[in-house]
Formats: sequence, C-alpha cells, structure tokens
Amino acid sequence: MSRVIAGKLYTGRDDGVADWERRAFMQARAACYPTRANLHLWGMAPTAHCDLCGAERETYGHIQVHCQVLASANCYRQAHDMVAGSILECVARELEDTHIYRETSLDNFLGTSRCPPALGRMRPDAFLTRDRKDKRRKIWVFEFQRGWTDHDKGDDWRAEAKKQKYGQVVQAIKQASDEEVEVSIAVFVIGVLGSIREDEWMQQLQDMGMTPTEAERTCSTAVRELARANAMVLSARATRRFDLGKF
Ligand SMILES: [Zn+2]
Repeated sequence: MSRVIAGKLYTGRDDGVADWERRAFMQARAACYPTRANLHLWGMAPTAHCDLCGAERETYGHIQVHCQVLASANCYRQAHDMVAGSILECVARELEDTHIYRETSLDNFLGTSRCPPALGRMRPDAFLTRDRKDKRRKIWVFEFQRGWTDHDKGDDWRAEAKKQKYGQVVQAIKQASDEEVEVSIAVFVIGVLGSIREDEWMQQLQDMGMTPTEAERTCSTAVRELARANAMVLSARATRRFDLGKF
C-alpha cells in the first residue's frame, strides 16, 4: 500500500531541488549510487568498508541512516528537521487557522502547573492547534520519522512505537484542558528512498483540514525535501564538513 511518489520529483519547474541532488536521489532509487559497497562490487574499490566509521558495508542505507559518524555529527537530525520543517510549512501555508509549536516540551505547551511532571520533558516534533468558532478545538501531536528504506522492509514499527510513546502526551493534554478538546497523534514516516504510505499521509493531512489537492502537494513537497536532505548527508560524507568537535 505504500506508493512511491518519487516520480513527482520531475515537475518540470524550478522546485528547489538541484540537478545533482535529483540525480543522486534517482541513482539511489535505482540502487546504483556509488557507495563503497557498489564501488567494491564494480571492482572500483578495494573494500566495501565505510571510510567514516569502518562498518563492513557502506550501503546507501548505511550512509543515510546508520553511519555512527554521521549520526554523531548530527547529520541525521538536520535531515530529519529539513523534511519535518517542509511538511509543517505546508500545513502553515495551506491551513491558515492552524498554529504550530515546534520543538516545544509538553510542560511549556500546557503550562507547567497543568502538566504531569513525568511527561513534562516530552518533546514531539510539533504541537498543532486549531481553533474555529463553530467547531471543537483540535490539537495534534505531530511526529515525523525519516526511516531507512521502504515500508515493505519493515520500518513501520517506528510509527507504532511513536504512537505508543506519545499516547500518554495525548492523555495529558486532554486531562489538562479546561474545555472539550479533540487530541490526535499524526505520525508521518518517509523512507530514505522516498516512499510513503500515501493513503495514511492523505488521510492525516485531510483530517487536519487540507483538501486532497493540498494534501497531495504536501506529499510531493516532502519527497522533494527528502531528496535535498539526503543530498546534504551525501555532501557531509564527501567533504567531511561537519562538526568534528563532537568526537
Ligand atoms: Zn559509517
């Protein structure tokens, strides 16, 4: 059921993705990005080892998700924030009556006195709130996950784990609210090859109030931003221009 929508990278317009970023992404999708594992396979590198952390096989997934050196250098955090930010920007643009609180802890969101102390430091990617005169107040706990690869390779437990983890946050918000409020969790997962469960994304975005067209536009934007985020990681790997002070 996950539909790969990387084809939408070819919009024929200036969509903010540089040619080399698009090329690298399409190479990865075709399993021919020149990783050390591929170079070794093609007889062009003596070993398949990762230059940075020494892992046995430097695959595309290793570079994008698993490399300890790139992880310690915060590259994955940055890539995550780029894509999460692009989704939230779409929400802000398409749904003007929605307020977005990024990187806010639960105790700040609720006001410390109303927050159970054990949960106070929980910090989802964002809280979204929506107030409308004629409707109940709605709050979403927004979480984004840039996972390894495609959903058919078993990355979905991450979405479930997040739903469980933030289920307590939902309860805490409900209990702390003076008025009746509807609280939901929205978890968006994207694989580093650009696959999403399109039905889930469309459903969640439409629940937030987007039209199908706006929701589709958001999906495409997220995939394009993923291509850019992946390219940022590739370039950090190639140039080793990251914060070495952390090692
Ligand atoms: Zn590595």
